[in-house]
Amino acid sequence: MIHATGPLLSVDLGARETTEEDIDDVLGEFAGGRGVATKLAFDRVPFDVDPLGPENRVYLATGPLQHSQMSFTGRMNMTSVSPLTDGVASSNAGGFLSRNFTGTGYAAVELRGVSDVPLAVHVRDDGVEFEEVPDLAGAEVPAVTEWAEDTHDLEAEHLACIGPAGENLVRYACVLTSETRAFGRTGMGAVLGSKNVKVLTFDGDSEADVEIDPIGTEIHREAATSDHVMKRQGTTSVTEYANEVEALPTDYFSALSFDGVEGIGGDAVESKKYKKGTCSQCAFACKLPTRDEESGVETEGPEFETVMAWGSNQLVDDVVEVMKANELCDRLGVDTISAGDTMAAYLKSEDDLANPERAREALRKAAYREGEVGDLLAEGVHRAAPELGVEDWSVKGLEFAAHDGRTLNGQGLSFATSNRGADHMYASFYPKEYPLVDKEQAVDKRGLDGKAPMVAAAENHNAVLDSAVACKFSRDFMTEERLGSLLEADYDDLLEVGARVVELERAFNNRRGFDRADDALPYDIEGFDAALDEYYEARGWREDGVVPGLGEADTDVGAASADD
Ligand code: SF4
Repeated sequence: MIHATGPLLSVDLGARETTEEDIDDVLGEFAGGRGVATKLAFDRVPFDVDPLGPENRVYLATGPLQHSQMSFTGRMNMTSVSPLTDGVASSNAGGFLSRNFTGTGYAAVELRGVSDVPLAVHVRDDGVEFEEVPDLAGAEVPAVTEWAEDTHDLEAEHLACIGPAGENLVRYACVLTSETRAFGRTGMGAVLGSKNVKVLTFDGDSEADVEIDPIGTEIHREAATSDHVMKRQGTTSVTEYANEVEALPTDYFSALSFDGVEGIGGDAVESKKYKKGTCSQCAFACKLPTRDEESGVETEGPEFETVMAWGSNQLVDDVVEVMKANELCDRLGVDTISAGDTMAAYLKSEDDLANPERAREALRKAAYREGEVGDLLAEGVHRAAPELGVEDWSVKGLEFAAHDGRTLNGQGLSFATSNRGADHMYASFYPKEYPLVDKEQAVDKRGLDGKAPMVAAAENHNAVLDSAVACKFSRDFMTEERLGSLLEADYDDLLEVGARVVELERAFNNRRGFDRADDALPYDIEGFDAALDEYYEARGWREDGVVPGLGEADTDVGAASADD
């Protein structure tokens, strides 16, 4: 199996010192990206760590495919213990950062400790520079980008930064790169905020010794010439279909379809698109730069999930209002899904849905933890729901994505088993239950018969993509055979690698107290308990969801306790 190359750069933020370590054994076993980052976290982060404490660590990592010129490889991975889920979690961003990260020559970067002043950490191929940036305290994301350009002649695609939400430890704060691409889910922005890291930059010309199979050129050519609907409408191309089959969360999850879908769906978003948008090297170009001439709002997106969280779930039927929310989320540095669901919960509790202006105002308060309401909403749905008096629509503390599991039952099961909570990309099971392109691939969306092993296999497959690192939207181009060929491995062996990644995440979380009770949904699916049994059996885990050995408290593995 090919893998990323280079050492681990470990950055001590308190002492402002760095060390380099050979991690070839980890790279050989896990390829790169999420796999390598998860293994490093498992071995080096105490199981009882406070996600927002100095002992927590952050891992950034790319994979071997970032050394190629292939489509679907403009992405990279960030891993830490999440302040939202309280478990180890990985987040994945597109854009152009991965190529600049690769240019530094490091396979992975670890951030540990905490700085006493807001810090910019510049990682280059010829060394690391620590720069105190007190003037950037409180800066919104575009201001950080402007600063990097003005003072360092660095474009936004070299940056990973946080907005005010990250600094204020909003649990669903994200890390932005290229201003609009986000390590969105699981609160990585709050972890950087807790470390007083405002911005990371990556720059260099290092080259890796990785050869990529010519099949990559074929995939690239197909992506360039395809007339796939996502090239016009991106992820929003699924909106009307999701609505039609009743899989579009609406009215804070109390309904599954939305009468106003026309105003926020794929066609509405496409009507605001003014140019093509893409990630590094990707000819598929599914991104959505949008502009509304009348209001002047300009943003990238909204993606389908944002259309759900700030549109149907809030009973908002105007795409321009969703664009405004999308732009504000990026500026303040929050995950659009978690933020939108949280504001939907708040407005539901106030019986004031369909009020987009009030939702944005509430988000501003949350980003600055302003007043009691802002402070409460900064905690996310799971922690705020009891006080708001609404249902807790989350799994393991992570707010729900769309593709509703009450209709797409296999996707529902995967929301429950996902180690990072109610996220649609952990298994990406939904295309199997409503494929847009190849209807032949469809499995019956209702019922769970035979789906548990399929969910486990889909999780393993995605863990391989996240380690490679390849975009999940390569799915109509990257066959199993092609993936094996690209990574120079048998596909079944790759699935074993993916299974090890999922198992390490599970074992880490077991050590933090997670078990079967956490693999739970806020709704019933017929046959759910039996399917969960089947899922654990397929993975070789105990029937209480614990990994034998690694996940058991009396097995001696991992880092020492944070109190040691
Ligand atoms: S398919 Fe879309 S999200 Fe994926 S790498 Fe290409 S442009 Fe980026």
